[in-house]
Amino acid sequence: MKAANSNNICPICEKNPTMPKFHPFCSARCADVDLGRWLKGNYTIPGEKADVPEPDPDDIY
Ligand SMILES: [Zn+2]
Repeated sequence: MKAANSNNICPICEKNPTMPKFHPFCSARCADVDLGRWLKGNYTIPGEKADVPEPDPDDIY
């Protein structure tokens, strides 16, 4: 126990306290890092073959 605001620490850098303006991050940079991670994770959905198109039966001939 060292700080009363221990649960208000930025989850990205885990060093600086959060700022209301960038909640729940400490800065725009950390908010940007989190957004980048979120977007990257959104491109690939584990367990789903979203990029494999279903073959069209009419394309056989
Ligand atoms: Zn931060």
